[in-house]
Amino acid sequence: MKTMTCKQLGGACDREFHANSFEEIAEQSKKHGMEMFQKGDPEHLKAMNEMKEIMKTPQAMKDWFENKRKEFDGLPDDK
Ligand SMILES: [Zn+2]
Repeated sequence: MKTMTCKQLGGACDREFHANSFEEIAEQSKKHGMEMFQKGDPEHLKAMNEMKEIMKTPQAMKDWFENKRKEFDGLPDDK
C-alpha cells in the first residue's frame, strides 16, 4: 500500500488515500473530489477548475497522469 494526499493528486486538502495501484488511488481521490464538490468546498472547487483546464488538452491530461503515476511508483510502501 502507498499513500498520497488529496493535494498531491491535484486536490486541495491533506486527506490521505491508500492504495496498491495508481488507478485505485486516482479513483479514491476522484470520489473524494466529487463529495467535496457537492459540499461546495471553495478550495476543492478551485482545484477542480484547474483540473478541468488541464483536461481540455488530452496531451496535458496524459502528461499529468504520467507524472502522478511516476510519483506514486516512486513512493515507499506503507509500513
Ligand atoms: Zn481534499
